[in-house]
Amino acid sequence: MKKTHGMNRAITRTWRPATQAVRGGTWRSEHGETSEALFLTSGYSYDDAATVAARFAGEAEGMTYSRLQNPTVAMLEERIALMEGAEACRAQASGMAAMTAALLCQLSVGDHVVAARAAFGSCRWLVDHLCPRFGIETTVIDSADNAAWEAAIRPNTKVFFFETPANPTLDVVDLEYVCGLAKAHGIATVVDNAFATAVLQRPLEFGADIVAYSATKLMDGQGRVLAGAVCGDRTFIDEVLLPFQRNTGPNLSPFNAWVVHKGLETLNLRAHRQSESALEIGRFVENRGPRVLHPGLESHPGHALAAKQMDAFGPIFALDVGSREKAFAVLDALELIDISNNIGDARSLMCHPASTTHAGMSEEARTEMGVGEGLLRINIGLEDVEDLREDLDRALAAAGF
Ligand SMILES: *Cc1c(COP(=O)(O)O)cnc(C)c1O
Repeated sequence: MKKTHGMNRAITRTWRPATQAVRGGTWRSEHGETSEALFLTSGYSYDDAATVAARFAGEAEGMTYSRLQNPTVAMLEERIALMEGAEACRAQASGMAAMTAALLCQLSVGDHVVAARAAFGSCRWLVDHLCPRFGIETTVIDSADNAAWEAAIRPNTKVFFFETPANPTLDVVDLEYVCGLAKAHGIATVVDNAFATAVLQRPLEFGADIVAYSATKLMDGQGRVLAGAVCGDRTFIDEVLLPFQRNTGPNLSPFNAWVVHKGLETLNLRAHRQSESALEIGRFVENRGPRVLHPGLESHPGHALAAKQMDAFGPIFALDVGSREKAFAVLDALELIDISNNIGDARSLMCHPASTTHAGMSEEARTEMGVGEGLLRINIGLEDVEDLREDLDRALAAAGF
């Protein structure tokens, strides 16, 4: 495996995210294959004993075991780092493996985490249940409120953890302010960028330290594999994340890495097209009556901030139809859009967070984060926008709109 093309880093580093998603970090074998090679191997063999000894001693480059390195996975890591503008990246088996690794690799008993209250259900579980079991204190706040971040800081605050836009209420965090505040207090920011990806939003440009991903979502984008990634500077990745990851083993399989490579080839096209359709459908639903939470709409409190931070607003939005009964009536009347709790897929999907993705939380916590019984979350895919409009028109009528 070597680089036979695109070796001039002074040029290749300047490529924009859409180009990096297709080309960044390409490694090729001696066969010169155009599509990325898939190395389904757990181990490696060596020409002689001195070679392997040198590799284990860190004195020679080369693979030793796929929990430590794998060519297909390493290529993906380099590609995602280049898209993000990060010094380094490591891939994990799922988005939750990435979030867990990004937090636990740097936290110890006695540390304190400030986290956004609007978050993916399992991200909230890490903050509400896992961290406290290991003596890590946590505070959840309204992430759209800049003053709340500052007020929550304690002498032992080590990490700010949030997503923007947030699942499922699409709360928008002021990246520049919150990352700047963290920096001034020596706090590391961990930003879950799954809803946007680097083609729509690059948190490092606003001062974030660590960007963590579910690559299951827009990066694969076709509902095939689970995958995750953590990006940061070289010191964090090599000295903090890697010892944790190599010894606990949340690694991404080479096969799944290869599938994500195929997804990345079309990421920029999909993310922009799905964002355009989501905005059009969001406007349509808003005009039909339900309250719509979409950062691209002027009615969303985070609209101006999202317009500043994002290149487009993403494929996901939420609507509130008032009650669980009406929400289920909408879902059951759909003919085209699937009832499904995934997002970022090329297919349009809709779910009822209170009874699915956020069902594991107390009703009180759900209410506090804005996940009411009437809330529906929708991912707009690549279908013809007219067909989506017709499907939603019928489904909203079934709920009395
Ligand atoms: C889906 C999701 C995750 C978890 O990712 P998995 O790949 O399902 O483990 C984390 N954060 C956000 C914002 C997500 O949407």
